Amino acid sequence: MPRILIIEDEPDMASGLKDNFEFEGHEVIVAQDGESGLAMALSHAPDLILLDIMLPKKSGLDVCRELRMRKNKTPIIMLTAKGQEIDKVLGLELGADDYITKPFSVRELLARVKAVLRRYPDKDEETSESVTMGHLTLNFHYYEATDLNGPVDLTHREFELLKYFYEHAGKTISRDELLNHVWGYESYPTSRTVDNHILNLRKKLEPDPTHPRHLLTVHGVGYKYIT
Ligand code: CA
Repeated sequence: MPRILIIEDEPDMASGLKDNFEFEGHEVIVAQDGESGLAMALSHAPDLILLDIMLPKKSGLDVCRELRMRKNKTPIIMLTAKGQEIDKVLGLELGADDYITKPFSVRELLARVKAVLRRYPDKDEETSESVTMGHLTLNFHYYEATDLNGPVDLTHREFELLKYFYEHAGKTISRDELLNHVWGYESYPTSRTVDNHILNLRKKLEPDPTHPRHLLTVHGVGYKYIT
C-alpha cells in the first residue's frame, strides 16, 4: 500500500487525516512544519505528499518548490485555505499535482489521492516495463526507444516529455506545465522550445506527423497525448 506523508501543523487535522488514511490501509507519516516535512519527504520516500500551505518554519509552497528543484517527483496534493486562490495557482505552477480546498470532505480527498496515485504507477513496476506510444516502444527507466526499424535516438528531454505525456494521457497539458515539470527551474526555455520539441517528437512517433493522432495540439492551451 502506498505510503503517505502528511505535512500539516494543525494537530486535529493531521491526526484526522492520519486515521482515515490508515483505515484505508496506507502507511502514514506526519510532519508538523515545513522544514521537517521537507526532510521526511527526502528521507522516507513517500508515494504521495499531502502538503498544507500555511506551515511554520517553511511554507508549503517553499517545500514544493524545493522538492521539485531537487528533481524529487513525489506526487503532491496541496491543502489550501478557502480564499487563497493565488496559492493553488502558484502551487500547481511549482509542480504540485492537485489541490484541495479546506474545508473538504475526507471522501473527496481520498478520491483525489487515488486519482493522483493512479497516474504514478508503482515505482518498482515502472522500471522494467516498456510502453507503446504511437510508433515507438519506450522504456523510461533505461531510456531506450525503438520502432519497427530498430533503435530510435531520443534526447533525455524527449524521454522526459514523453514520460510526462504518458503519465497524463488524455489530459490537456499547458506549455507552462510542461516547462515546469520537464525543464524545471535551472533553465529558461520559452514556450517556443516546447513547440519545437513536440514537432520533433511527432516525427518520431506519429504515423503521419502532419496529421497527428497521438500528440494533439489543443489550440490556445497546449497539448494532449492520446493512446
Ligand atoms: Ca496550517
